[in-house]
Amino acid sequence: MPSFSYSPIDRNALIRSDITQVNEFLQDSQSRILIWYQGKLVKTKDKRLYFLFEEIVNLTHSLSEPVYLGRHESLNYFAYQLNHWHPDFDGLELVNLRQASLTVSDYHLGLLYHSQGILNWHSNHPFCSQCGSRTRVINAGHGRQCENSECGREHYPRVDPAVIFSIINNSGAESKILLARKSIWDEYRHSVIAGFVEPGETLEDAVKREAYEETGLKVDNIRYFDSQPWPFPGQIMLGFSCETDQWETELVDQELESAQWLSASEIEEKINTAKLKMPFRASISWLLIDHWFKQQSGYSVDT
Ligand SMILES: [Zn+2]
Repeated sequence: MPSFSYSPIDRNALIRSDITQVNEFLQDSQSRILIWYQGKLVKTKDKRLYFLFEEIVNLTHSLSEPVYLGRHESLNYFAYQLNHWHPDFDGLELVNLRQASLTVSDYHLGLLYHSQGILNWHSNHPFCSQCGSRTRVINAGHGRQCENSECGREHYPRVDPAVIFSIINNSGAESKILLARKSIWDEYRHSVIAGFVEPGETLEDAVKREAYEETGLKVDNIRYFDSQPWPFPGQIMLGFSCETDQWETELVDQELESAQWLSASEIEEKINTAKLKMPFRASISWLLIDHWFKQQSGYSVDT
């Protein structure tokens, strides 16, 4: 089974409440700092992912409160949101998570997902959901607390579960996978099916419900596959495979533009004739398709 976005970093969560220790780590000349601006990562002048404290010490009025991400091999990692553009960043390259994920190892990718997810949560939660007052950052960036002394409620980052799954039909002469597309995607881009888990629902029931709502298919043999943090803005994608012996699809809730059954050889032919684009390679949707494709063909699907 593939393992996705495995990050060996120690989140070091037990020291988050020790402000003195966290500040000491932040000001350590070796500490590594990620800076995000409007959903994109800012790279340093020499294209590094990480800034050093001395490079940002005079810019803190443009930055959010720091988030302590953790420690790995004696180095400490932090992330900031750039709230206001500062001339010192002029000319620096901005990359989105998808672009960054093409060139970094799983270890760095884990830090990118972690930082993007938690900074998104901060951006979206400036006020207390209990009383509407402003909140302030606590716990080294891993929580917020209401500033209203009569309330004082603490808030912690939420992660919203979503299921993502391949639907396989083995009832014909050859195994086929259902590939679907949404009208907003670029031409020929296809993927597997995904949707949010609702309150009170098991993950397996969410797969069954979403499969029916989006494709009209009744599925069973639902098996867990893998998971992937998806900080857009704060999901975790829980991957499954499932099966059906029904061929006819119906786009019941109209979320999809189309859905089609394809064998491994049909996928290959469509990719080779530029009539099909796979999801990007660092995504669980690609892994789900590739896992099935490899079982059929013995090799990985192209992108
Ligand atoms: Zn409050």
